Amino acid sequence: MNNFQYTRVSSPAAAIAELSKDPTAKLVAGGTNLIDLMKYGVMAPDKLVDINHLGFNEIKKDNGTLHIGATVRNAVASGNADVLKYQPLLSQAMLSGASPQLRNKATMGGNLLQRTRCGYFYDISAPCNKREPGSGCSAIEGYNRMHAIFGASDTCIAVNPSDMNVALVALDAIIMVAGPKGNRKIPMADFHRLPGTHPELDTTLDKKEIITGIVIPDNHLAAHSTYLKVRDRASYAFALISVAATMDLEGSTIKDVRLAMGGVAHKPWRLTAAEEFLKGKTASLENFNQAAEIAMKGAKAYEFNAFKLKLAPNTMVQALKTASGIKA
Ligand SMILES: Cc1cc2nc3c(=O)[nH]c(=O)nc-3n(C[C@H](O)[C@H](O)[C@H](O)COP(=O)(O)OP(=O)(O)OC[C@H]3O[C@@H](n4cnc5c(N)ncnc54)[C@H](O)[C@@H]3O)c2cc1C
Ligand code: SF4
Repeated sequence: MNNFQYTRVSSPAAAIAELSKDPTAKLVAGGTNLIDLMKYGVMAPDKLVDINHLGFNEIKKDNGTLHIGATVRNAVASGNADVLKYQPLLSQAMLSGASPQLRNKATMGGNLLQRTRCGYFYDISAPCNKREPGSGCSAIEGYNRMHAIFGASDTCIAVNPSDMNVALVALDAIIMVAGPKGNRKIPMADFHRLPGTHPELDTTLDKKEIITGIVIPDNHLAAHSTYLKVRDRASYAFALISVAATMDLEGSTIKDVRLAMGGVAHKPWRLTAAEEFLKGKTASLENFNQAAEIAMKGAKAYEFNAFKLKLAPNTMVQALKTASGIKA
């Protein structure tokens, strides 16, 4: 691990100033991903800027709209009474991630920005365009069991590993950001990027910007929601496939529905075509199967992850059945 400086800031402006004057500086929140990456030699910032004392540690409610500060711990958010009442999907997704110890440290902002778990990204002896642009992608012809089936490019086929992000994209969350040019709001659907020709960039956040919080707009989806995660072990494992499903039902008619998948793309993958198909239809196994077929259009597998082409629609149908409560 390289030597680095550590500084603790007490205002967002000071954090932004640190990022502006030193391009190699990195913010540290819970440190559960960044410090690992530094130990592996994947990242080597000259300076760590501790943002744990900026007052971004509150959860506020405005009717049903929730404002969650960037340094709220995942354990705190997932157990918060308002999150459980208004946005249970978010709690379900966060509780399926990592372990209780890690969730006690991990923050909302850090979870949004956690890096991929592609093994080659962590192995500094292997070519990896995300770690070292232009060096090549070891996964395309390598062991790609965990990798993408949607939206990949010939420079990178990695997936976003976060469970929380899948729920946030389904819930139309807004990421609140501050930077040298002022404050801005980024819709969650636009926050993460597809790899394209620049896989080194995971998000649309500028290097000098800081996440201050997350807003989740009020909705009528709380009564029917499920986060279903399929993984190699029951805990402490990243998703092979996960599905966030939440809906507003009137009798058995689907008035509104939100669907997103994890473990399938470089960004949390919203399933808008399947949502459009289901709106106004009856919650039935037949309709869920058709929606899953629509959702899988354009999917492409690699040598070791072809099983995802079957696992993904099966997981989606099961999540819809559980969320809607239908027995079939
Ligand atoms: C063994 C293990 C298992 C795990 N399993 C899962 C899992 O199953 N599912 C899952 O979703 N996650 C899992 N995780 C990942 C874990 O959720 C993340 O490590 C954690 O959420 C990162 O949050 P942090 O606050 O510790 O981030 P940090 O490590 O502090 O930061 C991560 C990145 O975010 C940046 N950053 C942090 N806060 C801000 C901010 N406010 N503004 C701008 N930049 C910021 C940092 O500069 C850094 O680049 C696992 C982690 C480990 C170690
Ligand atoms: S899939 Fe992406 S992260 Fe993995 S080796 Fe290829 S370029 Fe690197």
